[in-house]
Amino acid sequence: MPQTKYIFVTGGVMSSLGKGLAAASLAALLQARGFRICIRKLELYLNVDPGTLSPYQHGEVFVTEDGTEADLDLGHYERFTGRNAEKADFFTTGKIYAEIIERERRGDYLGGTVQVIPHVTDIIKKFITSHADHFDFVLHEIGGTVGDIEGAPFLEALRQLQNDFGKHRTFFVHLTYLPYVKTAGELKTKPTQHSVKTLLHAGIQPDLLLCRCEIPLSESVKNKLALFCNVPAEDVIAALDVNNIYRVPMNYSLERFDERVCSHFKLSTKEHTFSQEWLERWAELNDRIENAPHEVAVALVGKYTELPDAYKSIKEALVHAGAHNNVRVNILWCNSETSPDILAEIQGADAVLVPGGFGQRGTENKIKATQWVREQKVPFLGICLGMQLALIEVFRNIAHVEANSTEFDPETPNPVISLITEWKNNDGTLSKRHAKVDLGGTLRVGAYPCLLAEGSKAREAYQTDHISERHRHRYEFNLPEFGETLKDLGLTISGTSPDGRLTEIIERTDHPWFVGVQFHPEFKSRPIEPHPLFASFIQAAFACKQRKKR
Ligand code: GLN
Repeated sequence: MPQTKYIFVTGGVMSSLGKGLAAASLAALLQARGFRICIRKLELYLNVDPGTLSPYQHGEVFVTEDGTEADLDLGHYERFTGRNAEKADFFTTGKIYAEIIERERRGDYLGGTVQVIPHVTDIIKKFITSHADHFDFVLHEIGGTVGDIEGAPFLEALRQLQNDFGKHRTFFVHLTYLPYVKTAGELKTKPTQHSVKTLLHAGIQPDLLLCRCEIPLSESVKNKLALFCNVPAEDVIAALDVNNIYRVPMNYSLERFDERVCSHFKLSTKEHTFSQEWLERWAELNDRIENAPHEVAVALVGKYTELPDAYKSIKEALVHAGAHNNVRVNILWCNSETSPDILAEIQGADAVLVPGGFGQRGTENKIKATQWVREQKVPFLGICLGMQLALIEVFRNIAHVEANSTEFDPETPNPVISLITEWKNNDGTLSKRHAKVDLGGTLRVGAYPCLLAEGSKAREAYQTDHISERHRHRYEFNLPEFGETLKDLGLTISGTSPDGRLTEIIERTDHPWFVGVQFHPEFKSRPIEPHPLFASFIQAAFACKQRKKR
């Protein structure tokens, strides 16, 4: 078996340059040449995982099949390569230190002093190289920007790895930024020169510079960067701004990024030819995204709408579903917490989506919006908390009882949504918790199976009766107490756990498209394969728009 090769993507000058997208796009190109790839993220922060982080800090928490709560970049990796990420593909400084401290307490260091070099760097190297054997390339995106204090042990570990493996098995991509100075009329290279110097201080010479810029890179700028940063001019690659992120892999390919990587590893591009099928599929996708003849407006009623990254996967799932239906989806970002008149904000929408969330803030406006779509027959997709609130809404406004989730009111007389104390895991084992005490680490998280009812919208959308979807929540519909009443309120349960105890999907029978799901379908949507529920939801939104016109 050929030896695994390691590609590292570091960031220079500033954050938000799209390192995740860059890593995902390169991986997609190598995959299109027939290589087996895997992408990982190394986060610099001290949190063990982002599970408890506010979405305002790092955007959405992405959930993998195996229940890892990870950075949103893993979403890019999955969407661009179609490969499901795993636990081994995400680690943080916090996770590394947690392991060191556990080892130290166990006495594993046999009285030795525990130090950054070699103990921390050894564990970083162990994470980087674990479960890597069956891939041709393992790409690692290093969080933050070179020069960050937290990043020092990581860069040191990478330097050592290059020494351990040799240059023929490692490749360093440095993503940097060339600011365009209007008054001078040129792209400036100095910030990049400085950031490469910082990398050199850490003992790392980048092999390739990927340069984010607003205007095309001229040959003279490329030559200047090559001269000052010790790389061949062919390895200075432009990463021009784009309006459609799914353009990035093709743009890189035109710049011969993947060819340069192959050339470094002495892999023949004639032998590893580019998949024509991949090229055609992505070209068609981009054409559909950029030239959609119609558009629809979807109101997204959420708490973190000021930072669209908090809903990254939903946003992308809507793009995929739009491309599939030949419509451009315009998202109306409606803040459920601060809006003084939520109904005025969603008036013009062809469909409404209420995403997941934790905590009570903003829930009353979400309930109001849900009542409006129910009455006005506007398509509705409620995700996780969105489904829970759709249930509370009908108990309050049709059954006229005081109803709530015990998450918001533990003493509510009608706990329509409540904590379950026992559930079955995928391996058949039972998880238990005490309703009053356990909160931390007790989420139902990761992929769980679900059975779909015959004749339902869900079944029609999925075209199958057995699905698996990713979860991240603590509370559930209180089926034993309130299941009976649902029919009278116009709702049916169209998806359940295989044992029938957990409600996974609800729908309205008297409505063109009203679906609530306890899971997060957005995590499994792919540009080439849009998620069936999102595709069906956008189709319904377009039909609603046509109805309004008549
Ligand atoms: N807060 C709700 C729960 O814990 C919903 C979570 C979510 O929307 N992801 O069950």
